[in-house]
Amino acid sequence: MTSITWTNEYITPTYSRIEIALEKGNGYYVFDEEGNRYLDFTAGIGVNSLGYQHKEWLSATQSQLNLLQHTSNLFYTNPGAQLAQKLCTRTGMKHVLFVNSGAESNEVAIKVARKYGHQKDPNKHKILTLSNSFHGRTVTTLSATGQDVFHQYFDPFTEGFEFVQTNNLEDLRTKIDQSVCAIMIELVQGEGGVVPLDQTFVEAVVEVCEQNDCLLIIDEVQTGIGRTGKLFAYEHFGLKPDVVTSAKGLGNGLPIGAALLGEKVEHVLEPGDHGSTFGGNPVVAAGANVVLDTMTDNFLTQITENGDWLKEKLLALDGVESVSGLGLMIGVTFKSLSAKEVVAKAKEEGVLFLTAKEKVRLLPPLIIDEQAIDEAVNCIKNILKVEVGVS
Ligand SMILES: *Cc1c(COP(=O)(O)O)cnc(C)c1O
Repeated sequence: MTSITWTNEYITPTYSRIEIALEKGNGYYVFDEEGNRYLDFTAGIGVNSLGYQHKEWLSATQSQLNLLQHTSNLFYTNPGAQLAQKLCTRTGMKHVLFVNSGAESNEVAIKVARKYGHQKDPNKHKILTLSNSFHGRTVTTLSATGQDVFHQYFDPFTEGFEFVQTNNLEDLRTKIDQSVCAIMIELVQGEGGVVPLDQTFVEAVVEVCEQNDCLLIIDEVQTGIGRTGKLFAYEHFGLKPDVVTSAKGLGNGLPIGAALLGEKVEHVLEPGDHGSTFGGNPVVAAGANVVLDTMTDNFLTQITENGDWLKEKLLALDGVESVSGLGLMIGVTFKSLSAKEVVAKAKEEGVLFLTAKEKVRLLPPLIIDEQAIDEAVNCIKNILKVEVGVS
């Protein structure tokens, strides 16, 4: 088993991996090197939105590979232009900047916010984020992440971030002032344990942004591109953000990040202010165009219905304590089993789940159907029956 032994021997051990070497996928199933099949409710951490071997996506990326794999951003190419046009048309945002990951898209948002603030007043550079948030692994996005465990070893961290207690209006009002150039939030905290923000808190964030001329940045790296049943989760909250960041689900597995810039900031970045060698790569963008084209109203409605149905079935199980989330971004806690225990048992049963803090996290491909939902729910039902004797 060279995959596992060589990974452990030669790849820096920064991940706690699951003992499976995956070889191929089809639809919502993946197969390991021994040919065992697994129902995949991880989707590469909310990335493989169209599942595996999706026909149009394969055909678009393969055709582009046959034409041209990369050009740099010194030239014009069609796939990225199309993708930017689609993203702007569907959201009302004005400009897009393509990068390669979620952290990088948040770096763009942070740079836009800092320059926006700087143009008003050199001291307007503070960015408020939330406790329990997650914004990425670069030094600056770690600095923006409101969890102490991420603020070790790599100091000095980037200055100018302050954390507001999630869903705490009073704390928000205490920390806002004219030195704040932006507030950056996830609408459903993903890594933080599938925690949706309260509507009243989100409304207060919008209000203080308006009163203090600071930008509203929505980190939609995990929640975006259909995951919650809308193209972007901010639509659930009726927001008009200044910056939206996207990554995970946008490329269906090929690396891409995007920062979408609204009216207020469309002209903030100028030539030389930012760049990326690979950003907007034509093969990745050709695939992302298919992802966006797939996100029709019908498809998004299906995601909502499947998500609601999945949540309802999970809540009906005796051993389930709570179910949170929006669309197909779902967190589950159990009365007498830990998330880790459930994930380990499910793997033995041929179903792959994620964890997020104390929750089992479900991020299936967005193409799942009744059969996949039944299979996942039955798996959990069996685990509960065997382990704690409930059904
Ligand atoms: C995953 C994630 C990121 C980081 O994305 P990478 O592609 O790993 O850099 C940032 N923000 C949120 C909300 C995420 O879920």
